[in-house]
Amino acid sequence: MTSRRATRLDPEIRPSEVDLHVRVDPEKDDAFSGTVRIALRLGHATRSIELHAAEIQTSAARVTADGETLRGRIDRDPARETIRVHLGRRIGPGPVELELAFRGRLRQDLRGFYRARSGRYGYALTQLAATHARRMFPCFDEPAMKASFQVSVTTRRTLTVLANQPCVRTEAAGRGFVTHHFSRTPPLASYLVAVAVGRFEASKTAHVGRTPIRVWHVPGKGHLTGFALQAARASLARLEHWFALPHPYEKLDLVAVPDFEFGAMENAGAVFFRETALLLDTKTANATERRRVAEIVAHELSHMWFGNLVTMAWWDDLWLNESFATWMAFHVIDDWKPAWGIWRGFQDGTAVALRVDSLSDTHPVYCEVHDVATATENFDEITYEKGAAIVRMIERTLGGAFRRGVRRYIRDHREGNTVASDLWRALAVASGRDVGALAGTWIEQAGHPVVEVRPSRDGGRIGLTQRPFQAGRRPGAVPPSTRWPVPWSGRVLGGKTSGRRLGATLTGSRAHVRVPSHLRGRPVYGNADQGGFFRALHRPEELAEIAAHARELSPVERMGLVDDAWALAQSGDLPLQAFLDLVPDLARDGDPAVLGTLASAIQTITQEVVPGLGSDAAERWRCFLRSAFGPLRGEPFRAPRGNDDVRDARAHRLAILGGAAEEPAILAAAAVAARNYCIDPARLDPAFADVAVRLAAEHGGKVLFDRFERVWRRARTPQLARRALMAQSRFRDPALFRRALDHTLDPALPSGDVAILLVRGFANPVGAGATWQFTKRHWKALRRRMGAMLVTRVIDATPALATLEGRRDVAAFFRTHPVPTAERAVRQALERFDLGIAFRGRATAELEPWLERAQV
Ligand SMILES: [Zn+2]
Repeated sequence: MTSRRATRLDPEIRPSEVDLHVRVDPEKDDAFSGTVRIALRLGHATRSIELHAAEIQTSAARVTADGETLRGRIDRDPARETIRVHLGRRIGPGPVELELAFRGRLRQDLRGFYRARSGRYGYALTQLAATHARRMFPCFDEPAMKASFQVSVTTRRTLTVLANQPCVRTEAAGRGFVTHHFSRTPPLASYLVAVAVGRFEASKTAHVGRTPIRVWHVPGKGHLTGFALQAARASLARLEHWFALPHPYEKLDLVAVPDFEFGAMENAGAVFFRETALLLDTKTANATERRRVAEIVAHELSHMWFGNLVTMAWWDDLWLNESFATWMAFHVIDDWKPAWGIWRGFQDGTAVALRVDSLSDTHPVYCEVHDVATATENFDEITYEKGAAIVRMIERTLGGAFRRGVRRYIRDHREGNTVASDLWRALAVASGRDVGALAGTWIEQAGHPVVEVRPSRDGGRIGLTQRPFQAGRRPGAVPPSTRWPVPWSGRVLGGKTSGRRLGATLTGSRAHVRVPSHLRGRPVYGNADQGGFFRALHRPEELAEIAAHARELSPVERMGLVDDAWALAQSGDLPLQAFLDLVPDLARDGDPAVLGTLASAIQTITQEVVPGLGSDAAERWRCFLRSAFGPLRGEPFRAPRGNDDVRDARAHRLAILGGAAEEPAILAAAAVAARNYCIDPARLDPAFADVAVRLAAEHGGKVLFDRFERVWRRARTPQLARRALMAQSRFRDPALFRRALDHTLDPALPSGDVAILLVRGFANPVGAGATWQFTKRHWKALRRRMGAMLVTRVIDATPALATLEGRRDVAAFFRTHPVPTAERAVRQALERFDLGIAFRGRATAELEPWLERAQV
C-alpha cells in the first residue's frame, strides 16, 4: 500500500468557495455536463494544481491569478483519481480562481451522480460519500477541504430539482429547460453535496424553530410520508435542545429516492433515504418497521451537527461521525417514545458488533486509512455499532458531563474538522477526568475481552479476570496480552435487595470485588445494563442460577445473557449444553427481543447442527422446541390482546414452532394467513406478516409464488413490495427459487434489492449452493449494479455454504475476481467458514446426549 502522503492532496492548496453548475436530463439520456469555478488559497507558490476527478472528462482549465487568466494543460492520474492542471508559470501564494468544464454519464452503480428509475420516470441522484464527488465534478474531495458551495442545475422544466440549500431563483434556459439557482451553503465537505433531479412531490411542510421540513417522494406516495415527518420533527427538536444549537442549514428535505445503496445519507439539508427507510403506511406497518424509520431519521439528523457542522479531519476518524450518530439515534428515540424500549435495538447492534469483533481479522474503531478502498471498507459494524457501544460506555461513565463536553466540542469546532483527541479534550475539561485514557484504548485497540466472573467459595469475593475474546483463537489483530480498562458492574439477584450492583475497574488481568455480607451467596449477573463491551463468562452452575432469576434482569440484560452464552458456546469457552440448559427458562420470556436473540441461536442449531444427527434425535429436538415454546393459545395468526411487544413475542414463537419445530398446525395456519395477506394485507395483523409469509413460502408451491409475484409488482407500500419480493427467495422448489434469483438480472429491480435478494438466497437452507453458482455465473452483470457496500453484504453471506469445498471455491473465486473494497470481507467470510465447520463438529457430539438427558 502506498504511504498516506502519496494519496493526499497538497494541504496548502485549499478551496474556499465553489460555484458548481450541472446540466442533466435524466428522462432523456445519461449524459451530464457542467462547469465548476473554485476559489482557492495557495499557501505557497506553485506551477500546477492537483485536484480529484475520476471517470469524468475534464476540459477548458483556466486559472485567474493576480488579475491575469492563464490556460492550463490537464494531466490525468487515474490511479490517484486526480487531475493536475499545469500553468506554464508560477502562481501564488494567495488567492486564485480555477475554472474547469466537465462531462460524464450517469452511473448504474448507485455512486457519484447516478441514474435510478421509478416506473416510466428517470432520476439523476447523488451519493458522494465516501469518495465519489470526484465522479461527478472536479473537486478537492477530502473531508477537511471544506468549501461553501453555490449549486445551479439546468434541466427539463417539468422536473423538480433538490439540493442542500433552498432554490432562490429559476431562469429559462431555452427549449423547455430551466436553471435552478440554490443559495450558497455554509462550508461543507464535498461528500455532503447533494443534487436530486426528477419527478418528485412534497409532503406538507412542518417546522421546528426556523427550519422548514418536507418529505419528498416519487409521485403517488404522499400518503406514506406522515410518520417520517413526525419522526423528523420529534428528532430535530430534541437534537436542537441536546446540542443547544439550532439546526445549521436553512431547510431540511428528507428525500425518498427510488434506488439507494445505503439506508440513508446525511447530505447537509437534503437527506436521501431508501424508500423502505422513510415511507410507510401507519395502518399496515409493524412496530419493527416504524422503529427502523424513526431510528434512521434520528441518526441522519444527528449528523447535521456531528459530521456535517463538525467533520472528521480524515476517514480514519469516521467513527467520530458514525459511532456518535448511531448512539444518538437511540437516545433521541427513547426520549420520544419511551414505551418502545428502543435500547433493545441498540443491544441487537452491539451483539452484531461483538461477533465481527471476535474474528481474527477485526480492526480498531479508529482505523488508519491510506486509500479509497479502506475508507469504504470502514463503513461497517465496528465503526457504527461497536463505536456506538463505546460512546455509550463513555456517556454512562461521565453522566451529565458528557453532554456539556460534546456541546463545547461542537461550539469550538463548528464548520471545522476534528480528530479524536479534540473530543477527549472537551470531555476531559467538562468532567475533570482523563477521558483519553479510558476511551482511547477502546477506540484504538482492536477486539474486546471476555470477563470471567467467579465468586469465591465462601461468597465473600468475586474474582474478575479478562483476556481477549476470539471466536477461533487464531492469531490476528488482537495479541493475547491485550487488556482493556473495563468499568465492570455486576447485578445481584435474588432476595429483597435484588438489583443491587457491585462495581470495580478492571485494568490488568484480574481484580477482586468484595461482596457485602448481606449479599453473599446470591447469583451475580456479570454485565449490569449491558453497559460494558465484553463477553461475560459464568461457570455453568452459576449460569443456571442466573437463568432461574432471569426475570429480575432487564430485557437488555436477558438479551446479553443469551447472546454471551451462545457466543461462548460457539467458541468452545462454555459447553453447548450449558447454553441449551438456559433455553427452557428463557423460552417462557415475554419479551420479543429476548425471544429474537434465542430464536437466532435456535435457527443456527437447527440449520447447521441438527442435520448431522440421526432422525430420532432430530425429532427429539423438534419435540423439545414444541414443549419449550408452545403451545400457543387461540388461532395462531390472530393477534392476542396487548401491545406491540405481546404480538411481536408471539411472532417469534410462531417462527420457532413453524420453522425449527415444523409444527404442522402452525404451517397450515401460515399458508391460510399468507393467502389472505396476498388478497388484502389488512386481513393479517402486520406483526405476523413476516413470519406468515416466510413459513408459507418455505412450504409453498407455484400458485403461492405467483401470488407473491403479483403482490410485489402492484404493492402500494415499500414494505409490502419488499416482503413479497423477499418471500420468493424462501421457496424450496429449485425452479421457483431460480425464478427468484432471476429477478436480480432484471434492470427494473432497484440495485439495492439485488444484493438483499442474493443475501436471502444464501440464507435459504436449500438455496445457498444455487445462489453461489448463480452469483459466479452472473458476477459481471451483478457487480456492475452493486455498489461497494452491497458487494460486501453478498460476500458476508457466503459462509452459509458451510462446507470445506464451498470455502475453497469462495477463496478461489475472489482471488481471480478481486474486490478492493471487500478484501477484509473476504478474509472474514473465510474465517467464518472455518468457525462454522469447527463448531458443527463439536456441537453435534454435545447435542445428541443432551437431548437424551433432557428426555423429550
Ligand atoms: Zn451515519
